Amino acid sequence: MNEYDGKKFLTNKELIEDDGDISLRPKTFDEYVGQDKVKANLKVYVEAAKRRGEALDHVLLYGPPGLGKTTLAHIIAAELGVEIKVTSGPGIERAANLASLLTNLQERDVLFLDEIHRLNHAIEEVLYPAMEDFSLDISTGKGAGATSLRLPLGKFTLIGATTRAGMLTGPLRDRFGVICRLEPYTRDDLVRIIRRSARLLKIEIAQDAAGELASRSRGTPRIANRLLKRVRDFAEVYNVGGAIDLGITVKALNDMEIDPLGLDYNDVKFLDALINKFGGGPTGLDTLAAAINEDSGTIEDVIEPYLIQLGFVARTPRGRIALNSAYEHLGVKPSKKAAEQLSFFDGAK
Ligand code: ADP
Repeated sequence: MNEYDGKKFLTNKELIEDDGDISLRPKTFDEYVGQDKVKANLKVYVEAAKRRGEALDHVLLYGPPGLGKTTLAHIIAAELGVEIKVTSGPGIERAANLASLLTNLQERDVLFLDEIHRLNHAIEEVLYPAMEDFSLDISTGKGAGATSLRLPLGKFTLIGATTRAGMLTGPLRDRFGVICRLEPYTRDDLVRIIRRSARLLKIEIAQDAAGELASRSRGTPRIANRLLKRVRDFAEVYNVGGAIDLGITVKALNDMEIDPLGLDYNDVKFLDALINKFGGGPTGLDTLAAAINEDSGTIEDVIEPYLIQLGFVARTPRGRIALNSAYEHLGVKPSKKAAEQLSFFDGAK
């Protein structure tokens, strides 16, 4: 049985959780497609740090999942010519775990801390002196007998990645010398990524098929790579020779219930609830999450960024509202109240 048999669609979560194929990860700045501004600046900082023989300043990378934060962290370390150690906020359970990671770093090494917004606050405090003064404060004993010991660390670079820069505490954010926001990719960039991945995976794909895939990848390389592999499965079964043309691409994506804009079942469920259950909003995040039985974090990280980018949804202080193009996409006419709200919103823009 093929993977897509008996299963109509891929959920956003599945698309996002595919952590890609390590073989597809670009290894140098030149192989890393798009994000030109971020890349140009990082190249300067890396080159300057190398010339001075110093550790690069701490770097914070933020943006929705699958846009290339982890990939970029590995590239930075490779271009600096240093080792990278990888961990994540939820993976560090005790201060001692972080202390041992830090003491094991060599001078100028990179520590990559994914999902840094999920770091426990007590552990975060251990990070402050480590980032600022390259030292660890260790307290021993309790009460009146407690003493504190300061342990010097080698100069290292912390690269933090987060999908929610807003959830970082001020003191933590302030300790990053370089803050980069990754943007969703353009269709042209995604076509380049898809063609590159196809070449590495030895898949033949027509230019128009790559364009169609790119349009339906929600601006996200990880999704583009994942869809490419699924379309390859369809081509393998239905096309002689397994080559990917436009026809099989459209069939595969339609069968997976990914619409021409890249919206999937969950996106449509979200829009449908906002428009049909809540009259177009404003509706609070938690109310929407309960209505569609989805985790509010997934809505914020995965579903909303693309809908906002498309101009389908806006976040307002009073809650989420559906915009005109969302009504058009679903083929629903706004109610009188919603139409009034929309004209007010358009006027305020
Ligand atoms: P994040 O850490 O932001 O969730 P990743 O770095 O894991 O994202 O990227 C997901 C996948 O997408 C990678 O395995 C890589 O193959 C691909 N990718 C990401 N960014 C790019 C890019 N700029 N160029 C080419 N491929 C990319």
